Amino acid sequence: MRTGLVAATVDIIMAYLNFLRESAAAGGTLLRHMPRMLWRQLPAMASGLCDLCQDTSKAGQLCEDCRALLLAPMTDGSARCAVCHLRLDGRMHCPDCLNGGFAFDRVIAAFDYAAPGDLLIHYFKSRGRFMCAGVLAGLLADAVADAEPCLPEATILVCVPSSRAAVLRRGFNPAAEIARSLSGRLRLAYRPEWVVRTRDGESQTRLNRRERRLHARSLFRCAGDVSGLHVAIVDDVLTTGSTLHSIALTLKEAGAASVCGLVVARTPY
Ligand SMILES: [Zn+2]
Ligand SMILES: [Zn+2]
Repeated sequence: MRTGLVAATVDIIMAYLNFLRESAAAGGTLLRHMPRMLWRQLPAMASGLCDLCQDTSKAGQLCEDCRALLLAPMTDGSARCAVCHLRLDGRMHCPDCLNGGFAFDRVIAAFDYAAPGDLLIHYFKSRGRFMCAGVLAGLLADAVADAEPCLPEATILVCVPSSRAAVLRRGFNPAAEIARSLSGRLRLAYRPEWVVRTRDGESQTRLNRRERRLHARSLFRCAGDVSGLHVAIVDDVLTTGSTLHSIALTLKEAGAASVCGLVVARTPY
């Protein structure tokens, strides 16, 4: 319990520093979220409960039953696309990759964006429980450790930048929180400033797959020297892959040797 409390306090301090960094870009208004955000984390700090079923669990982890349920579709041996990690469900070819191919080389995902994992993402993104970032990053770190082939040594992590409107609404960037935690777990450098959003763009939720890809084009630019480097883009959910494709394209044009997507959840077709 004491270790959990210490870890939770360190997490909150780190998240606060992250808020300060992001608030510079969001006009300082993010600081208004701080009291509400911290209040929402108190139950998680005071208990060692599973984020999904509220049963007792080791602090910062799901209980064994929920973990097994969440990971079952990833470990049942069903075929997945070697590039975008889509579950193929009997298809010969990946429908997302058939849409024109992706600029990223491959994707590693922790679980499918379906029950019960979608609930965990919902708690994290929509209910402001940003301490779920540690649980999600832990699951993703395990997936990276099991991935074949493994990530190239000295891979640099970047994250998908949230739109300004989304950061102001939530009080944090979900992908950035996961990337920060993942960087510590995998001992890989994290450079959040290397990918910059050039404009906000409207929500993509109502767009179909083709429209999403057109919309995401030129939404990002590379602000770091990635020449010859292996880069991994961290995001929470991969739906059509259009955002990851757009950032990967930018990084490849800037000279990145390889680009991998590290996503917590992969949406089934
Ligand atoms: Zn549970
Ligand atoms: Zn694919």
